Amino acid sequence: MNTTQNEQTTNAPKRNPYMGFLWGILIVLLLNGLIFPKIAEQQIVETDYGSFINKVDSGQVKDVAIKSGKIFFTTEDGDKTKLYQTGETNDPQLVERLLNADSPNPNNKIAFNQIVPQENSPILNFILMWILPGLIFYIIWRQVGKSLQARMGAGGNFLSFGNSGAKIYAESDITTTFADVAGQDEAKETLTEIVDFLHNPAKYTEIGASLPKGALLVGPPGTGKTLIARAVAGEAKVPFFAISGSEFVQMFVGMGAAKVRDLFKQANEKAPCIIFIDEIDAIGKRRDTGMGNDEREQTLNQLLTEMDGFDGRKGVVILAATNRPESLDKALLRPGRFDRRIQMELPDLEGRKAILSVHLKKVKHEQIDMDVVARATAGSSGAEMANIVNEAALRAVRMGRKTVTTADLEESVETVIAGAQKKNKILSDTEKQTVAYHEIGHALVAAMQTHSAPVHKITIIPRTSGALGYTMQVETGDQALMSKENLFNRIATLTGGRAAEEIIFHTVTTGASNDIEQATRLARAMVTRYGMSEKYDMMGLETVNNAYLGGDSSLTCSADTAADIDREVLRMIKTAHEKAKSILSEHLKVMHQAASFLIEKETITGDEFMDILHRYEKES
Ligand code: ADP
Ligand code: MG
Ligand code: ZN
Repeated sequence: MNTTQNEQTTNAPKRNPYMGFLWGILIVLLLNGLIFPKIAEQQIVETDYGSFINKVDSGQVKDVAIKSGKIFFTTEDGDKTKLYQTGETNDPQLVERLLNADSPNPNNKIAFNQIVPQENSPILNFILMWILPGLIFYIIWRQVGKSLQARMGAGGNFLSFGNSGAKIYAESDITTTFADVAGQDEAKETLTEIVDFLHNPAKYTEIGASLPKGALLVGPPGTGKTLIARAVAGEAKVPFFAISGSEFVQMFVGMGAAKVRDLFKQANEKAPCIIFIDEIDAIGKRRDTGMGNDEREQTLNQLLTEMDGFDGRKGVVILAATNRPESLDKALLRPGRFDRRIQMELPDLEGRKAILSVHLKKVKHEQIDMDVVARATAGSSGAEMANIVNEAALRAVRMGRKTVTTADLEESVETVIAGAQKKNKILSDTEKQTVAYHEIGHALVAAMQTHSAPVHKITIIPRTSGALGYTMQVETGDQALMSKENLFNRIATLTGGRAAEEIIFHTVTTGASNDIEQATRLARAMVTRYGMSEKYDMMGLETVNNAYLGGDSSLTCSADTAADIDREVLRMIKTAHEKAKSILSEHLKVMHQAASFLIEKETITGDEFMDILHRYEKES
């Protein structure tokens, strides 16, 4: 992604705003040089008036000079002449004393005179003291004012100081294209129209159509929103103004609004072009909630005004991206502003394969079994896929190979999901057994329920994430719909680990904490959001706040109901747990076989596990 930035800056003057200060300082230095000439470098000894008189009376003093309140005098001590200074006091007898005193001078007289301080002419004094400082201040004021005005635009808040960083560079020559964005075909389709508009606005304006002014890219983090925005600019070959929403929010009220004004002014000059506001929720948050934030609101208002104000036919397209669309101000979303909404979803199986091949182009690799890798990465975003490919390349280098293999990719999937292998963590034999039975418990419950996904891999090698082992289930396809049975079976699978521990060791360990968390979340969602409990039928009991960011939810029911929901969730988990226990008790023999195989091998593949299972099924 080689992009060059061309030096198209704002309308700020070419002069550096700080030049005024520099000139001021320079002039003050010069003045100081004029007014206080260099003092002689010879060592002057400070002494008191009494010693001066003593030295005069004892005939040591050679010459005396009185200058602006100070008396300078020299004495001769052998061959050396020493220079002294002392303060002048009102001593009427001084002249007489000096005239009468002895001196080492040849004529035995002290040479003395009074130096009249050289007064500057009154006009020069006036200029130096009044006009010049005034001039300096005027220059500084003008420079600062100008730079401020450039930052604020006309009518800005003059009190705002500080670094606005008003320079927004337009990037041209962007090399990112739609080919770099894998999958996301719907998004590309919508954006292709915008690209065409930027190429050839006349085609649209002739018929009287005006294209959407803005499009909002919405989706979870890492799905390629920023990437596709760049790709639009690369395809259309127009300048690209990219700015992040948070860059608008400044310390001082008014700065953000000024920046918005500035941005649109520049964009108008460079049309056709693209303005891209990343993470727009930083300024676009709904205005009515909670405490007001003056700066953010002003910035948002300015953005709304600018979006209304500019001519849609000119060829300025505004793209924005966010992963919190529900928090955006409604005014932003109304027609005429961001009226197109482009959904960027997590990639499905085909999408993941496509993303893999885009990123594999950047590394040297052998024949890769895309299907295996894509299946193992269910739920991963494009950014995670990119990371997985890179991790695989790093692993290949670590292993001293020149190309990436499927094994590298599989290992790096695990590294990204569960953390790196913890080589030095040594489990005791009992721990190892517990972990092995726990993981086999999950796998067996999953396999025995016809609807559960088969196992991809089971391992008891500790990971840096803290997992002591895990069972990787592989989604056979991406399911858009999950039935109640699917979800319930999944809960049963999650309880399978703990169930195995109970059956074999008659005790429980801390190893199930993650399972507990997941099972509870799933059961709760079934009751509150999916309408899968008999008791609450289709009543919605919860709303999801951040669908794309973890999806935290809040209850929308009374406290009574909330307590009852807990009971319902508990009932569901208990039933699933019982189911898991009964499955495992029925198949104790195969559980022992698989567990001892796992303890021996530490990692077994899904195929190996299924082999054991099939052999067992044939026997019985
Ligand atoms: P977002 O802005 O949605 O959070 P980005 O656009 O910044 O995500 O994506 C981060 C990185 O992930 C990209 O630079 C790219 O390497 C990779 N990526 C994400 N989605 C895709 C995709 N659909 N195709 C190819 N690479 C992708
Ligand atoms: Mg982004
Ligand atoms: Zn578990």
